[in-house]
Amino acid sequence: MSIHTIPNNYQPSQNLLHGKNILITGAGDGIGRCAALSFAAHGASVILLGKTEEKLASVYDQIESNGWPQPALIPLDLNTSDYNQYLTVKKAVEEHIGCLHGLLHNAGILGQRTTIADSKPEDWLKVMQVNINSVFLLTKALLPALSHDEKSSIVMTSSGVGRKGRAYWGAYSVSKFATEGLMQVLADEMSLTNIRVNCINPGATRTRMRAQAYPAENPLDLPTPEQLMTTYLYLMGGDSHAENGKTFDAQ
Ligand code: NDP
Repeated sequence: MSIHTIPNNYQPSQNLLHGKNILITGAGDGIGRCAALSFAAHGASVILLGKTEEKLASVYDQIESNGWPQPALIPLDLNTSDYNQYLTVKKAVEEHIGCLHGLLHNAGILGQRTTIADSKPEDWLKVMQVNINSVFLLTKALLPALSHDEKSSIVMTSSGVGRKGRAYWGAYSVSKFATEGLMQVLADEMSLTNIRVNCINPGATRTRMRAQAYPAENPLDLPTPEQLMTTYLYLMGGDSHAENGKTFDAQ
């Protein structure tokens, strides 16, 4: 697998995402929150999807108070929702927003850090549901809402352990391998369309999930989500229109 980085010295223009409608999962916290704010600051109308409504509302308020384009908010638990609820998301997007130009699959959970032998079946299934099954379900539901007139971008979130397996990373690692696989299959299917599909591996980043995985680490030693945003903006904006089926490192 070749791993890519964005062009050297890439600088997104301030209006890179002007007129784009972009849905972000896990938009209430960590990297997803930062991506939502950054996309909005670059002109996008963002649709904030996530589990905890108060967190989404706080991002919504921050966008409004900055005078950025009007956001929308969709509380949805990716662990417990069935396909009909994903279709309701699609209907709401089409009725209230029109079409989408971008979809960032960012939500994720870590699950247990233990051996395969000691993994609890219910934990395995939950990690798979949130980290990969929901990516399939949401993508399938939203594909008809993605614009073919202007180039649209689907970005999925991978991890270093989604490219090389490592002991004790269990379902999380396997879900990220599956994410890379889903990205490749869909990118190949979309290759003759105006939709492109790529992965980002954020790398070690100062968030709640990282602190959960490495409790002894000093978070101040890690890059913040803000420091990754050039890669996220590049893949969401028109400057990456020719990129398809690739996996990128944000660091
Ligand atoms: P956080 O734990 O900070 O944020 C995760 C986000 O996912 C939260 O907004 C959370 O919502 C949401 N989420 C979790 N479960 C659900 C659910 N059932 N339904 C809807 N939303 C849900 O994680 P990060 O920001 O660190 O991670 C973002 C992505 O980056 C993940 O895919 C992760 O695997 C990946 N990644 C992160 C790395 C890092 O070092 N941080 C390294 C490599 C990959 P809520 O807060 O409401 O629960």
